[in-house]
Amino acid sequence: MRYISTRGQAPVLEFDDVLLAGLARDGGLYLPESWPRLSADDIRSLRGLSYPELAMRVVAPFVGGKIEDAALADILTEAYAGFGHDAVAPLVQLDANLWTMELFHGPTLAFKDFAMQFLGRAFDHVLGRCGERVTIVGATSGDTGSAAFEACRDKDAIDIFFLYPNGRVSEVQRRQMTTVGSANVHAIAIEGTFDDCQDLVKAMFNDTAFRDEMRLSAANSINWARLMAQIVYYFHAAVSLGGPDRPVSFAVPTGNFGNVYAGYAARAMGLPIERFIVGSNVNDILPRFFDSGTLEMAEVAPTISPSMDIQVSSNFERFLFELYERDGGVVSQNVTEFRNTGKLSVGNNLWESSRETFDGFRLDDTDTRAVIGQVHAANGYLLDPHSAIGVAAARAKASDPATPIVSLATAHPAKFPDAVEEASGIRPPLPPALADLHDRPERMTVLRNDLAQVESFVREHVSLKGAA
Ligand SMILES: *Cc1c(COP(=O)(O)O)cnc(C)c1O
Repeated sequence: MRYISTRGQAPVLEFDDVLLAGLARDGGLYLPESWPRLSADDIRSLRGLSYPELAMRVVAPFVGGKIEDAALADILTEAYAGFGHDAVAPLVQLDANLWTMELFHGPTLAFKDFAMQFLGRAFDHVLGRCGERVTIVGATSGDTGSAAFEACRDKDAIDIFFLYPNGRVSEVQRRQMTTVGSANVHAIAIEGTFDDCQDLVKAMFNDTAFRDEMRLSAANSINWARLMAQIVYYFHAAVSLGGPDRPVSFAVPTGNFGNVYAGYAARAMGLPIERFIVGSNVNDILPRFFDSGTLEMAEVAPTISPSMDIQVSSNFERFLFELYERDGGVVSQNVTEFRNTGKLSVGNNLWESSRETFDGFRLDDTDTRAVIGQVHAANGYLLDPHSAIGVAAARAKASDPATPIVSLATAHPAKFPDAVEEASGIRPPLPPALADLHDRPERMTVLRNDLAQVESFVREHVSLKGAA
């Protein structure tokens, strides 16, 4: 399997290089040159498989032998072995034809564990094979940092540093980053905002000497391997509900368009999916796109679903690439236009064709709290704010009542206990594996919003064992 960039100018790579590269050299995002197809019989044969077995069938064609099958199967088995539910991604029925898929049984209680637990192991395997090391640096507003730390803890080939805005992440999110207790994991609290953290990370990558010396790498949501791992649970859900012999729809609370793009990939591989409903909070650039055919940036407003407080959805570029029939030149022009003007229109034909598969839905904080309260009263089931937006989107926009609809529950309610308590009167307890989170010793370093200071901290704490 070969991978090409959405901007058409970067070298064509195989899976192992795409994994380590993250962003393509022309600024684009990597995608498989063509989608591997599973026939209806192939999909039927997934019934009854365990989650890691099913994952192996879905991801092996993308890996294309660049990790040997036996090693890949081990990586997938280990990645999901630590999840707190035997089904890994269990379905819970809420209405006659509405299910939530609980994607929050991983070590950090959000769906990002599905991708990160795979990514950390795949990195370690590919690097270990060639005796190399990397230093992963990233910025986080909460969930990504903890998921990446858990995935990379104690990995021989990786040192990992995440910057977060000091005092501006929730207590659960902070403790999940500061209590990992591994020598290769470094939580850095920056005296500044999330944007300051992102700017510092960009500046480190732009400092070529530092980047090469530290062998910097990224684990952000544009990495193809993360999306690839997320395709699996769309197959898992559809097959559980009668696929491929019965189409299903999905409602996906989204920010960066990553999670829903993984669903789109499942559909491109032959999984019968009728529709995707993209749910957002008031930061509704994506629903506005599906309502109008125009992507238009606005100010980011803070909400009770902070992991979706995003106005530039980086993975949307992958969707544009498909919409423009894989013409990298046109994608480049569009991305440049969007960057310069904050606005981009795809025209009526493409807008209508995207409407055949996608719909959008937005919910403000007041209505999100109301949904959490209603679902708890009616079903005795607690949703976190992100997942509540998904359920509301499914209910509001399901097009055909005969088609089962699965709403992705992207975070455990205990990850956002204040919002959930305010909405339902119930303070959700942490699951047993994290019950002592508030007693664990914390380790973090507070640094000023200052590039030189952050770089010297990284330099002093990186091990770079075995580096050339
Ligand atoms: C990251 C995140 C999202 C958004 O996911 P995208 O892939 O950016 O669409 C939604 N919910 C939770 C809880 C998250 O952590």
